[in-house]
Amino acid sequence: MPPSDKDREGGVASEETLNPGIVKVESVFNAKSRLAGGVNRAVVIHCSDHRFQEAFREFLSEGLGLDSYAPLVIPGGPYFCSLEQLQPKFAKAGFQSVSFLIKRTGARRIVILGHRECLFFKDYLQFFFPQPDLNRKQFGALGICAAALSDRFEGSGVEIYFADAGDDGSVNFLRIEQV
Ligand SMILES: [Zn+2]
Repeated sequence: MPPSDKDREGGVASEETLNPGIVKVESVFNAKSRLAGGVNRAVVIHCSDHRFQEAFREFLSEGLGLDSYAPLVIPGGPYFCSLEQLQPKFAKAGFQSVSFLIKRTGARRIVILGHRECLFFKDYLQFFFPQPDLNRKQFGALGICAAALSDRFEGSGVEIYFADAGDDGSVNFLRIEQV
């Protein structure tokens, strides 16, 4: 029997649609880390770019002092917020993820984080911003993203940061505020 509309829309597959999913499971590693307790401090949205992950983690834990946060890590990070016209499904999925994290973890703070030479921004968004260089285009886009998040998630403070990188590989974090 094919799945009914109810099954499709409700996200609950009928038995006929489920793959039996036969798997083999074995233990491969015991983590030193323990499950975090306490409350979630923030939803953090940043890019997947592998070059910046270690610096992002250091900034969030040591720079912002976040002992607990829920990361949303996707290509381009918060730039999905400015893609409602160009890529509506991508934008919708991003907003749904933020909504889920805020509702289910109780975070009152949203941190959005951009970075120098964001490949996603270069490919999809730089053409739409008049600023003279790529960093400034990104600053403008991050301001738009923060405004879109503030509109949708009233009661959540939105903070904007940007990871700038030097030719020597150093990474400096900037705070950006809307004026
Ligand atoms: Zn990026």
